Amino acid sequence: MAGPSITQHELNKVSQMMQDGWDSYQYVEEFEERFAKYNSRKYCLMTPCCTHAIHLALLGLNIKENDEIIVPECTWTGSVAPITYLNAKPVFADISKENWCLEPSNILKNITSKTKGIICVNLYGRMPNYDEILDICSKKNLFLIEDAAESLGSTYKGIISGSFGTCSVHSFHRTKTLTTGEGGALLTDDYKLFERCKFLRDHGRSDKIPYFTLEATPKYMPSNLMGALACAQLDRVEELVNLKRNIRDLYIENFNEIKNEISIIKDDQNHTNGCWATTLIVNKDKFKTKEALDFFKSKDLPLRPFFYPLTSMPGYQKYSKKGQEFENKNAKYISSRGITLPSHYKITKEQIQIIASALTSFIKNN
Ligand SMILES: *Cc1c(COP(=O)(O)O)cnc(C)c1O
Repeated sequence: MAGPSITQHELNKVSQMMQDGWDSYQYVEEFEERFAKYNSRKYCLMTPCCTHAIHLALLGLNIKENDEIIVPECTWTGSVAPITYLNAKPVFADISKENWCLEPSNILKNITSKTKGIICVNLYGRMPNYDEILDICSKKNLFLIEDAAESLGSTYKGIISGSFGTCSVHSFHRTKTLTTGEGGALLTDDYKLFERCKFLRDHGRSDKIPYFTLEATPKYMPSNLMGALACAQLDRVEELVNLKRNIRDLYIENFNEIKNEISIIKDDQNHTNGCWATTLIVNKDKFKTKEALDFFKSKDLPLRPFFYPLTSMPGYQKYSKKGQEFENKNAKYISSRGITLPSHYKITKEQIQIIASALTSFIKNN
């Protein structure tokens, strides 16, 4: 399904770190400086994973018990779980049928006097209408965290993902476009927020007096080993994103026969997609993802479902709005007919053809 692209370049860099990198955070600092530039941001903090970066951002933004944060109904749990660490409340808004991300009108419906901000996810590398969302944030005085974990290399109106809102987060999990095994980053242009999060990231300790704790905080420091691998992967970032885009393009070519039955990530005037994992929706009435996946399992083809609506699962059921006025119907519709295709760097043209032709005949016959 997914996995890294590791070359001699990464091996050399990590081996160099193993020999000379134990006395400092030299590689982490180099990566942070270069990754901020790549994302058109002023500041970057590397973290042990993206989920920690979100937790750190919420701590830095001073989120407290009972504060409400608007999140999309469909995303990976890592986008939302950190809200619950603080006993704050995730408020699940429906997603757009067009771009699978938060929709401005659904954000507005869910704003209350307790709303502090929004976590907006660029799902499968797609990006929402940020012009309108940023406008809502400034009018209602809300923060915006852009979850760019799946959108490395995506752009909206020519502006790179990772540069929108109060701060942005990335993931370098082993399945992501750029990887350090586990890893993440927090990006911002706000110097005060950056300094606060940097302090919170390292046990709230004094930078003047050794071993002197000013505040009891978590510890979310990355290792220099991660930093070295991150630097080497960042050297290849254009190549990596192009490889991912080629996979998407090959799938599209091979889906020609069923192109009217599916919606798949394409680029247009306002959007380019980094294509972390090529995903499609089948628009045919009778189609059900679950039936398709059962069928492909019997053929040993590793397709994956779309993310489930979070409130449909036990972990988030208590936040469900089922039967209520703003029930999240688009999320349910999209999730029940979405499929993520294998997007491993090592996938071959022939394997893509096999998967595409199997899915084509399933869709035509069902
Ligand atoms: C992968 C992912 C995360 C979490 O990343 P980790 O590095 O595993 O913590 C968060 N949000 C989204 C949208 C993701 O896809």
